[in-house]
Amino acid sequence: MAIRVYSCPKRLLNGPCGGALEGACEVDGRHCPWTGLIERVPLEPWMLFEEHPLLAELEGLVESDSVPRSSAFWRKLTRGKAFTVEFPVKVVRSSEDLLRVLRTLEADLVTVPDNPLGYPHFDPVAFATRLKDVGVRAGVMPHVTAKDRNLSALASELRTAQLFGFEAVLLTTGDWPGLSMPSRPVFDLDSPNLLRLARLVFAGVMPPGQRVQVESRPRVAGTMNPHYRPGVEARRTIRKIVAGAEVLFTQVVARRESVLSIREVLMEVEEKTRAEVPVVVSLLYPLGDELKPFLERMGIPTGDEGFGELLEEVKSLDAKGGVNLILLAETLGEWLSLWEEVKELVREVFG
Ligand code: SF4
Repeated sequence: MAIRVYSCPKRLLNGPCGGALEGACEVDGRHCPWTGLIERVPLEPWMLFEEHPLLAELEGLVESDSVPRSSAFWRKLTRGKAFTVEFPVKVVRSSEDLLRVLRTLEADLVTVPDNPLGYPHFDPVAFATRLKDVGVRAGVMPHVTAKDRNLSALASELRTAQLFGFEAVLLTTGDWPGLSMPSRPVFDLDSPNLLRLARLVFAGVMPPGQRVQVESRPRVAGTMNPHYRPGVEARRTIRKIVAGAEVLFTQVVARRESVLSIREVLMEVEEKTRAEVPVVVSLLYPLGDELKPFLERMGIPTGDEGFGELLEEVKSLDAKGGVNLILLAETLGEWLSLWEEVKELVREVFG
């Protein structure tokens, strides 16, 4: 059984997506019908895991899961000390720039973002393949979103991620592209169904029903929005875990209370699922006061805490997981110098 709410512009099965701002839809500003609904519906198994009709059929073809690829990222994650960084898409203009970034990277995982706010840049899966090709020392994790890809295109991207040895893939619904330009978007799957598709492809089952050889697979990551009410976010998170998420990456956090919300969501999730899922908390660096009005407009609440205090707060979560850094720089030189600063700060706190 599935619910589709037709006033949702993305036509999601079982929302809300991660983009509602205080209950208002990110696309048209009207009330997001899903945010209230999800709290009222009891957490029955059918709510936790809703299949696309084809996914339900493919489910029956799975013989066994494949072995997750071993990585420093996963080993550190289980000790609560994973250190990941978003690749600086905006400031890398040439192969030479790319190599300069790679020479300095000492993170456990590089994440390759999709198109934030719908602004197009290169394809994250193609770029992650390039990173593997040039011998990046860290693991790679492209963001794969359901935006503008139907089930068949998504299955191809996931198969690429599996074949080219990525350590992880981050799966999420994706931003509405019309936020930055007029275009007609496609949202074929919601994020739990996208997570389930990944687990099927990584288990060697490709739509529409072909079996393929699989040696090992990437870890499957979902997203968490700590700015939603904990009751809403816990339900969204539970569905993602049931669908196959093994680790969660949060949206950017810019105040202590948001870290406390993560703790609250995790407690509810653990109580309902008995699953202890690692959480990687995303932080911006530098977190200056001039940035805060912009973050607030994006639905990211801010506080008076500085970056160091937030890092300490993340460490106090005392859970499996780590920290994901997004450095705000206009030029490559600026990014490299911020990277030198911030990696020392992270080492001081996380060891
Ligand atoms: S915020 Fe997301 S789930 Fe809610 S109505 Fe808008 S597009 Fe749909």
